Amino acid sequence: MKKNVLIVGAGGVAQVVAHKCAQNNNVLGDIHIASRTLEKCRAIVASVQEKNNLNVPGVLEAHELDALDIDATKALIERIRAQIVINVGSPFVNMPVLEACIATGAAYLDTAIHEDPSKICETPPWYANYEWKRRDRCAEKGVTAILGVGFDPGVVNSYAALARDEYFDRIDSIDIIDVNAGSHGRYFATNFDPEINFREFTGQVWSWQNSQWTSNRMFEVKRTDDLPVVGEQTTYLTGHDELHSLSQNFDVPDIRFWMGFGEHYINVFTVLKNLGLLSEQPVKTAEGLEVVPLKVVKAVLPDPSSLAPSYSGKTCIGDLVKGEKDGKPREVFIYNVSDHADAFEEVGSQAISYTAGVPPVAAAILIAQGAWDVKKMVNVEELPAQPFVALMNRIGLPSRIRDEKGDRALEF
Ligand code: NDP
Repeated sequence: MKKNVLIVGAGGVAQVVAHKCAQNNNVLGDIHIASRTLEKCRAIVASVQEKNNLNVPGVLEAHELDALDIDATKALIERIRAQIVINVGSPFVNMPVLEACIATGAAYLDTAIHEDPSKICETPPWYANYEWKRRDRCAEKGVTAILGVGFDPGVVNSYAALARDEYFDRIDSIDIIDVNAGSHGRYFATNFDPEINFREFTGQVWSWQNSQWTSNRMFEVKRTDDLPVVGEQTTYLTGHDELHSLSQNFDVPDIRFWMGFGEHYINVFTVLKNLGLLSEQPVKTAEGLEVVPLKVVKAVLPDPSSLAPSYSGKTCIGDLVKGEKDGKPREVFIYNVSDHADAFEEVGSQAISYTAGVPPVAAAILIAQGAWDVKKMVNVEELPAQPFVALMNRIGLPSRIRDEKGDRALEF
């Protein structure tokens, strides 16, 4: 059994990961949290203790770490004997952290595709630019690396695998729909790192249509659906990580990602973008100061974790899958609904961080228990979906299904 977890990063998602690891430390062993800013790690440790979230008495420690420094990360993994690393730092640190795992043999999990700070929207499939180049080395060294195991990417990849294995003979389309129908009460804020959030929307929108990569502009294509709990919602075709593995691992002609945005978000985003304030390229001020506009915007916006206490409302994220079963057309929506206030009550975070933070802990438990300790690099849809979805039902992210038989809990 693999034990002892190192959590990299101390942002909104890391807070959830730490609480959930603590609630399951009887399986996961010692819990360590390391990030650039030690104070943030300490605050997370204090919040876990305050909520009395350790399942059994055990180690819960904070460390300062620059995760871009591979040797420092290796040394920490070895010193604390971590066998599982949950990387929920910024996506800029993903490949250095993976390198440290390959060197030490620790299992690696992340929740987002690696990004190079100087590049926006690289050539699809995105995983081939960085992660999949390290596939052979993971297999040679027997290192388990599970890529993109948040909610989206992550759980939605598992939902697609469930649809393929349990509910369809042939799938024609997978539309992943992500709606946050909550309200944070601030003039403008992003739900996770503004820099990462904006970078998702300033490039081309890549989607998989008619079995090929198709390019659109952001906010060019939209749809409206009547969704469970959150009701009628408009969402926009968006480029997103999961399309870049599902398109390669599934034989499905149309795989798209749709994200909900309010008119206010779109207006503010459009003004910022048109003014050049979302650019990742440095500019020089009249005083000779060199600044990256996107980083300045990040610095003046609210810290996403500060939104949690007053966040209300719910998220609904799921896969709308269409195809054929037993010669008949079929449509299935597999989804989760999460509540911002409930997440805050349990772990002190909003539901976006909650939905992203519970899945990597479920994955870590499955690695510790062996079921997902596959000793190679995989995307989530390549792993058995049932144990993952069943475990999340128990630890805070219950799944549901809506099909011709109605709407019900997804249980195994
Ligand atoms: P935050 O920006 O809140 O946190 C990122 C953390 O990474 C910060 O604590 C930051 O440190 C730390 N960090 C940055 N650079 C370094 C470094 N060089 N060394 C050590 N630590 C570093 O992000 P979130 O918590 O919102 O998101 C975390 C990850 O989860 C991101 O990759 C994001 O894309 C992903 N995500 C995935 C989702 C999914 O469903 N799949 C949904 C939401 C997010 P510091 O505090 O010093 O700035």
